[in-house]
Amino acid sequence: VARRVIDVDQLAAQVRAGERAGLARAITLVESTRSDHRALAQQLLLKVSPDPGAVVSNRVGITGVPGVGKSTFIDALGMYLIGQGHRVAVLAVDPSSTLTGGSILGDKTRMERLSVQRDAFIRPSPTAGTLGGVAKATRETIVLLEAAGYDVILVETVGVGQSEVTVANMVDAFCFLTLARTGDQLQGIKKGVLELADLVAVNKADGRYELEAKAAARELQGAMRLVHPRDSLWRPPVLTMSGLNGTGLDTFWDTVLTHRRVLTEAGEFAEKRRRQQVDWTWTMVHDSLLRRLSDNPNVKALRATVEQQIHDGTMTPALAAEEILRAFDERT
Ligand code: GDP
Repeated sequence: VARRVIDVDQLAAQVRAGERAGLARAITLVESTRSDHRALAQQLLLKVSPDPGAVVSNRVGITGVPGVGKSTFIDALGMYLIGQGHRVAVLAVDPSSTLTGGSILGDKTRMERLSVQRDAFIRPSPTAGTLGGVAKATRETIVLLEAAGYDVILVETVGVGQSEVTVANMVDAFCFLTLARTGDQLQGIKKGVLELADLVAVNKADGRYELEAKAAARELQGAMRLVHPRDSLWRPPVLTMSGLNGTGLDTFWDTVLTHRRVLTEAGEFAEKRRRQQVDWTWTMVHDSLLRRLSDNPNVKALRATVEQQIHDGTMTPALAAEEILRAFDERT
């Protein structure tokens, strides 16, 4: 089979022109783990990097357990935003797909209304590789989508392992969707996610659940006050909404915009993005070093013996660590 030659200049032009097919090919390229593809992907990313003064998108993360109503909500929010003249992209970070090959966020046709819109682009989670690999592909996909003119980027995830932290570190505003929970049930919510959230929304606040949802929101607001000190620049509000009948979508989006304005006025918005870029760089360095360490033939050769010596008590862990690092530093 003849390998198709990838013309990076042409691909960059197609992405900038917002051509769907070209954009999809470009995303496939940044998702690829082949080393020649990775090099081309980086060339492509340089070519599409934004002009100074370009519109700065809104990057919004959305998390919540399966069944909380994420896809229903994103479908409704996306339609609402398109109605306001935005172009909306939806990405997913689903680490379950990298572990099991299956996925929690699912392959079923989700977001039925949004998926057929000309001003929407929906991309499922990359399925290959580690969470680190998925995160890298997703971040690079965000750059492509912005170059293609999508000014709202919604990144959806489920709270598996580190996925919430990963997504919170690539968005401007991180939103936690939950269901009406009060009293002891509140304990079931991971404290970590309350620390990460810029906005909490009690979803399915409709019909017979509405009052319950309002009560839950008040209680959650109390819990949030404990997590976020009074003098924080932004104290995350707890809203109620219904993705199903669309109530609260406007308040949700207004809150995202207010959060952005507050951060911008304090000089924190651009700073947050810069910090994310630098953190991401070091994350990649760390990931790559770890991979080299475990792939290193000297280290591999030593491993079983050293572990046995530790087990037998003839070597201390600290000495073992030194020996492993010495082997790593030796030329292979
Ligand atoms: P996801 O797994 O978080 O993406 O959740 P889905 O959007 O697939 O929704 C799970 C179920 O909850 C579906 O049966 C939806 O119809 C229902 N649902 C979603 N949003 C709402 C809502 O706002 N109110 C009510 N009452 N049901 C909802």
